[in-house]
Amino acid sequence: MSDLRDLYQDLIVDHSKNPRNFREMPDANRCADGFNPLCGDKLRLYLKIDDEGVIRDASFKGSGCAISTASASMMTGMIKNQSIERARDLFDTFHQLVTRPHEELDPNEAGIGLGKMAVFAGVNEFPARVKCATLAWHTLKNALEDKQEAAHTE
Ligand code: ZN
Repeated sequence: MSDLRDLYQDLIVDHSKNPRNFREMPDANRCADGFNPLCGDKLRLYLKIDDEGVIRDASFKGSGCAISTASASMMTGMIKNQSIERARDLFDTFHQLVTRPHEELDPNEAGIGLGKMAVFAGVNEFPARVKCATLAWHTLKNALEDKQEAAHTE
């Protein structure tokens, strides 16, 4: 196993210790739960989507490991003021970045638009950690599709 500390870059540590958008949202019009049984990460995601299909606000509550918390913290900041379509595109880009071997990815396209979230690229060497990093995103997908059942990473 290569150096796990590589995963815990400053940004991830910062977001896990001081998660942004970490609050309930009583007036949310979309809400979804996510659970990663492998690690025990749990979160509830709140969205406020306007009539034009733009995500005006995003927040989360829950408890989980540093990776899942940091991912939810950064994701909720990133999808604010994005359209639903754009958020779905970001899901695909992020999912590819953390699940596909990097040699299969086009370096000119991999992670484009993810900004700082590209730091999670390193988790693809740790399959158990991929579930932590993607939990918030799977939950987002369910919230966008207005699914009632909880998102599972399994
Ligand atoms: Zn975890």
